[in-house]
Amino acid sequence: VQIGAMQGSSDAEGQPNLVLFLRDLTSAKRLEAMRVDFVANASHELRTPLASLLGFIETLQGPARNDPAARDRFLAIMREQALRMTRLIDDLLSLSRIELRAHVPPTTPIDVGPLARQIVVSLTPLAEERGVAVTLEADPEPLAVLGDRDEILRLVENLVENAVKYGGEGAHVAVRVARTPCEEGRTPQIEIAVQDDGPGIAPEHLPRLTERFYRVDAVSSRQQGGTGLGLAIVKHILNRHRGRLSVESEPGRGSTFRAVIPALVEETPPARPVPSPQ
Ligand code: ADP
Repeated sequence: VQIGAMQGSSDAEGQPNLVLFLRDLTSAKRLEAMRVDFVANASHELRTPLASLLGFIETLQGPARNDPAARDRFLAIMREQALRMTRLIDDLLSLSRIELRAHVPPTTPIDVGPLARQIVVSLTPLAEERGVAVTLEADPEPLAVLGDRDEILRLVENLVENAVKYGGEGAHVAVRVARTPCEEGRTPQIEIAVQDDGPGIAPEHLPRLTERFYRVDAVSSRQQGGTGLGLAIVKHILNRHRGRLSVESEPGRGSTFRAVIPALVEETPPARPVPSPQ
């Protein structure tokens, strides 16, 4: 910890005001180390597909120049690698945009139920391709929060897409959106729960899931087209919405990811005075 003192203006009796500042150098150093790590990881993630692209370009210019079958196969792989880089850059940009807005509270009233339905519908082709069934239950009354529409869509999309991707063939994914009961005097919450009956996650991984580029199984994540940034994006969106993420999971029994966001509480208008009988 760095402790310093600055002399400020004088108080009413002419005594100088001292301003003490405490700076936590350990946390500054930790932040700097995280930033350096992040840049190193992002560069590595981009360099891998780039190296593969360069390798294929050289092969196509040389040994495979006159081999149409090899050319078609290599071009398909090169397209995959280029798409992987595009996904990674898109996720990096999303993350930095959300971070830029971190201190600007979202102000639009949003009904979360219809947004969850929109995401479930848009992910139906992926789910069908993977042999996964997705169901949605949303309370019929409005489930309103003060939010950023695109960010809430992204949050639900990342959680449902993960459940579909990692749930595996034949899995069932249940999405539930509900207002959670709250104790007297506390703000009610809107909960988005995404439950799958897939392979689950071992307990030692759970605390690290929202770290950037953290993957339980890097090979399976890459096969699924994952960037390792999905849950980091979810965490940042929830921070901006004063929300929280929790995960319950057990290997062999599936996982439940729960995101909660404070509900928008309508101000009840003051009761009208009852006119007294004349
Ligand atoms: P990715 O882009 O790799 O999917 P995420 O940040 O979204 O990255 O998730 C981090 C890791 O958490 C994934 O690589 C995967 O190993 C694990 N994971 C996330 N959701 C699930 C799930 N529903 N079931 C099993 N594992 C999951």
